[in-house]
Amino acid sequence: MDASLLLPRDVPLGGPRAMTVRRTLPHRDRRTIGPWCFVDHYGPHHRDPSSVRPLMDVPPHPHTGLQTVSWLLDGEVLHRDSVGNVATIRPGELNLMTAGHGIAHSEESIVSAGTSPATALHGVQLWVALPDTARHQQAHFEHHADLPHVPNDAATVTVFLGALAGTVSPAATYSPILGAEVRLQPGGSVELSLDIDFEHGVLAVQGEVTVDGDPVPHAALRHQPPGRRSMILHSEHGATALLLGGPPFDEPLLMWWNFVGRTHDEIAEARNDWEKDVRFGHVHGYDGGPLPAPALPPVRLRPHAPATLDLVTGPAAPTPMS
Ligand code: MN
Repeated sequence: MDASLLLPRDVPLGGPRAMTVRRTLPHRDRRTIGPWCFVDHYGPHHRDPSSVRPLMDVPPHPHTGLQTVSWLLDGEVLHRDSVGNVATIRPGELNLMTAGHGIAHSEESIVSAGTSPATALHGVQLWVALPDTARHQQAHFEHHADLPHVPNDAATVTVFLGALAGTVSPAATYSPILGAEVRLQPGGSVELSLDIDFEHGVLAVQGEVTVDGDPVPHAALRHQPPGRRSMILHSEHGATALLLGGPPFDEPLLMWWNFVGRTHDEIAEARNDWEKDVRFGHVHGYDGGPLPAPALPPVRLRPHAPATLDLVTGPAAPTPMS
């Protein structure tokens, strides 16, 4: 049993026109990797040319306490939010929404003029937990179309969040973090310098890769604990992987529906505010109504202990070093 390999499970997203995604975080065996607390991977989905329905159609819904990271490998997605932003994201671009105290948004796949109608939809939706110092801030949104690459002959490495080997993304971050896309040619290998304090996750979004020789099957997420100075990614047949990292998140987390908080009462208040149509504002231009919040469970929600707690309360285990 390889506990470092997180296999995805299929989850139908909410809403009347739900799309099924592959979820690897949170996972039974792991809640977070650094501040990354949610990893959904979808597609490639091919559009039925006879249908007018978009492949992705997520009605307005609220968020608190997190950043949403939208990243595409194929297709286009239109974002609208209650702060007034309307932004189309394409492969290689970043849509980053910092929810802070509260925001609402909708997401729809589109086929804009000049794009092949046969284009598939393929991407990931990721969440970053905001630290306590940043989680109550006013909501805002960023679109980045010009992201930096780590110089490398063997791979195309795009840094969309945080820093990797001295290459820094312009996107706003609130705790140390890494989010990068690594594209490998058939037979390609790349060695990446890592921050020794970071834990990392490698998600094989297209094809499959190995991490220091350990396999990452398609759509799986492999976790590596802190203590490594570098990582070698390799692909036999060509692949695209996402590299996610950060220091183990050291605050308790309570995730329920689209909210990230710390206590039951905080989550219940956010849910109540959404149902009463206060705090989150309105998404203009979306054709349809907002998503209703599900009922709270009959028991009080309890936060998960910080990821670092395992390290201080567990048996004295040597820190893995390479
Ligand atoms: Mn959302």
